[in-house]
Amino acid sequence: MGHKSWLGIILLFFVTLATGGIALADGETPPARDPKQPVDEAYTAKIRKYTTAPYFSSPLVDYLPASKTVPTPEVVLGDVAGAPGILPYAEDVYKYMRLLEKATPRVKVVSIGTTEEGREMIAVAVSSEANLKNLEQNRQRLAKLADPRATHLDDTEADKLVTESVPVYYITGTIHSPETGAPTALMELAYRLAVDESPYVREIRDGVITLITPVVEVDGRDRMVDLYKWHLAHPKDFYPPLIYWGKYVAHDNNRDAMGMTLKLTQNVLNTFLGWNAQVLHDLHESVPYLYDNTVGDGPYNAWVDPLLVDEWQMIGARNVADMTRFGMPGVFTHGDFDTWSPGYLMFLAAMHNGISRLYETFGNGGADTRERTLQPDEYARTWFKPNPPFPKALWSQRNNNNYEETGLLTSLHYFNENKRLFLKNFYLKGKRSIQKPSAEGPAAYVLPADDPRASVQADVLRIMLKQHVEISRATSAFQVMLPVKKEKKAGKSADTEEKPKPASPTTRDFPVGSYVIRMDQPYSRVADALLDYQYWSPEDPQTTPYDDTAWTFGELFGVQVARVTDSKVLTVPMERVTDLSPFGGVKGEGVVFAIDNHAEPALASLRYRLKDASIDAAEEPFQVGEHKFSRGTFLIRGVSRSDLDAVTKTLGLQAVALAAAPPIKTHPVRAPRIAYVHTWISTQSEGWWRLALDNLQIPYDYMSTQALAKIPDLNAKYDVILFPPVTGNAAPNAIVQGTPTAWGNPLPWMNTPETPNLVGKNDSTPDMRPGLGWDGLAKLQSFVRNGGVLLTALDTSQFAIATGMANGVTSTTSEKMKIVGSIVGTRLVDAASPIAYGYDEKVSAYCDDGPIFSVTSIIGGRRRHLGPAVTSRPTGRGTKDDPDFVIGRPASETPDEPEKELWEAPQPTNDQSFNNPRVIPPANRARVILRYADAKDLLISGLVENGNEIAQHPAVLDVPSGSGHVVLFSINPVYRGETENTYSLVLNTILNFDSLNAGRKDADQK
Ligand SMILES: [Zn+2]
Repeated sequence: MGHKSWLGIILLFFVTLATGGIALADGETPPARDPKQPVDEAYTAKIRKYTTAPYFSSPLVDYLPASKTVPTPEVVLGDVAGAPGILPYAEDVYKYMRLLEKATPRVKVVSIGTTEEGREMIAVAVSSEANLKNLEQNRQRLAKLADPRATHLDDTEADKLVTESVPVYYITGTIHSPETGAPTALMELAYRLAVDESPYVREIRDGVITLITPVVEVDGRDRMVDLYKWHLAHPKDFYPPLIYWGKYVAHDNNRDAMGMTLKLTQNVLNTFLGWNAQVLHDLHESVPYLYDNTVGDGPYNAWVDPLLVDEWQMIGARNVADMTRFGMPGVFTHGDFDTWSPGYLMFLAAMHNGISRLYETFGNGGADTRERTLQPDEYARTWFKPNPPFPKALWSQRNNNNYEETGLLTSLHYFNENKRLFLKNFYLKGKRSIQKPSAEGPAAYVLPADDPRASVQADVLRIMLKQHVEISRATSAFQVMLPVKKEKKAGKSADTEEKPKPASPTTRDFPVGSYVIRMDQPYSRVADALLDYQYWSPEDPQTTPYDDTAWTFGELFGVQVARVTDSKVLTVPMERVTDLSPFGGVKGEGVVFAIDNHAEPALASLRYRLKDASIDAAEEPFQVGEHKFSRGTFLIRGVSRSDLDAVTKTLGLQAVALAAAPPIKTHPVRAPRIAYVHTWISTQSEGWWRLALDNLQIPYDYMSTQALAKIPDLNAKYDVILFPPVTGNAAPNAIVQGTPTAWGNPLPWMNTPETPNLVGKNDSTPDMRPGLGWDGLAKLQSFVRNGGVLLTALDTSQFAIATGMANGVTSTTSEKMKIVGSIVGTRLVDAASPIAYGYDEKVSAYCDDGPIFSVTSIIGGRRRHLGPAVTSRPTGRGTKDDPDFVIGRPASETPDEPEKELWEAPQPTNDQSFNNPRVIPPANRARVILRYADAKDLLISGLVENGNEIAQHPAVLDVPSGSGHVVLFSINPVYRGETENTYSLVLNTILNFDSLNAGRKDADQK
């Protein structure tokens, strides 16, 4: 078929669609253009040209209405939205939105903050002239619905407000930078909403305020556009993968809705709540052709209101129905996304009484038109995908824009048709949040004033404030009743008598100044979800959790959080806290200042800030008067009382002046020179570590494995090398070799005329492909041998083991075990190690399936698995405890197996030691700092299945290597701004880098 006739058929097809091919329900407004309004013919022709098949479009977007006064996206793009070869920078998108604002009273643009690299974020409101004129009055009405305390929970008054209010539907685009289609789709959507006079669009404009943030990850967008331009300039070459998105994190920028560490999360939440929006609809591109994953699959988050679940079903089902009626293939809901974790950007709405929504449309990772071949599971017809995508199709960015815009327009229209219901639900969800104490409970969460980790407690409270949660402070001491725990019934077959347990306390006292997070507030839901515990059943029908299964903040931050069900707590005298006033400082007079060690990360900040002070660590606990100080206490000299007072106040640390230094063993705590190493494979996991160090103001030199390999003498420049996880499971040879260089072209990550934004404040290289290399590995090994400290975690620990830097440690991964982003129990094994300073015996930690470490005393040896098979005597004569004997010879004594715990290295037997140079001398053996808890105590929050495989195994190890150390982590100590409890395991390693052998029992043995 010739090109011309094909076009003719398409045009005919479009005309058919537009003139009523669709069956309508009674009274329904047809989704069709207004025949009286002229069409922008040139623009419309291009829309059709760039759409690869007629069924990849709809009567809502297959034309563009013309306007004499309002410019189309073409004025900025030079072509239509979704045109091949065109990706606008955020700046260009903003320029267009501001042109719209100038040209029509139906558009208003506001600045909503900046990114980590200082780029602007905006929100664009599109609605009728009258709605935008009355924005402030409308906002006040919506605010009363958002906080029903304003109307004393009076439903009649709420109904009146519901009738008078215009709802706000908030759409956010391109948080994931390689998912590139949303900005142009949203430019064109804004134009349509402002200009189109069809009854369908007019109803949306008059009935709803559509709020649009066209680019959420602005830093990443500009980098992505750079790369695409590079690709256009070098069409035959591979182009570099987008290794940095924002300054810190890549794909995980959509997992920040709990920790609120990134500006983009804070800016979007402030906008969502500032406008009192009802919906937050986030646009992604990874699934053909449109997956409304809002409805998703189970398990659903246990803290959302069932009303929200109904809303998901309503909107999702209707969305699919509308687009299916247009004849658009591959539109579906449900699917394999579970709705458990509240970490996603859109879930900010679910946790703040709104409606969270998310689209995955199909993107080409740029604006090329390409033939796309799908995997069988993508084109399979299933119960939730009766009209699946094609196995193969030519796909364009215009197709993507058609799907995004059609989905959004039908959603907006349906939302408008049912806005009274959604506004009433919005009010009811707020009301039910306020009624939580008397409905399901709890009444409050209390963070006691006497928590020894005050600075970390303050960090948790700061996150609550970022989440717009109200915090109060008790102005007197108080007592609450504790819930009665149900006694577990003893099994009938139990023949041993249970010891009577001591009666559990029935009340709990809290001191004056304790923080109270009341549950009778509109955003109680988010506080409840973050502070409560999670349980994911190993029998759950969902066998592949989509993300973390646990996030309990009290455990991850290591602060005390009491869930109080006694509603008397709400009558305690208290005052609102809007700002966490400074605390800490210096108490008393003396010559030396002591700061007790409770593993607060702020201690490391202090060390770096007091560069010229002398600080020592107490190697033993000690007592001065009534005051007990723990092991690791800082003893500070060489700083004035007033200087120390000022610094400790900003850091929230309490210093005590002592008349004399305590008579105990100490060693210096130093501020070492840190090399911080990343790969060019991925910066996702290390980004969270970088963010944590920057927040703590701990300086480091940031470098790639390539750069490290070029430093002639690492020991001359650095004391500590931090090598955070790469992906969590990068292979050792990938770290050494990088990406193959035997074929292909160099992949530069550098600023060039085509890529002015690429580097930002991060790193650069002329070719991303080479890894550490064998030279680099040798340098790393000699750095450790000559006394340096190398700190690794997860895959970089496996790399250290595989390359012979951690003798006597083996690592395995499990097939059966499932610990999916869970919080597990660990136990202190060696409290005298400086790495353990400040920690109690039980430490909660974040774990994601291992790796499983074992220690041995013989190189190449494997820790024997003490499974049930070897614990009992073999079949033979006598009772279970009798020795067996062999007929016709003297009885022999069975040698005792060397008894060792699972986390310990077994002593070699005489036979194993005989003439064996592979036996590791005791002083060179791995020192286990933390181990995983016993299987029955492993699960603290989330999912633990077959945890016996990792139970009792080492979780944190200090391995002497030459005169240096390699420190290995099986838990991830620094993760998503949520794991402050374990930060100090890393920071202690840094500060005590030249005294890690302190307290080591076998250090002098040979
Ligand atoms: Zn995405």
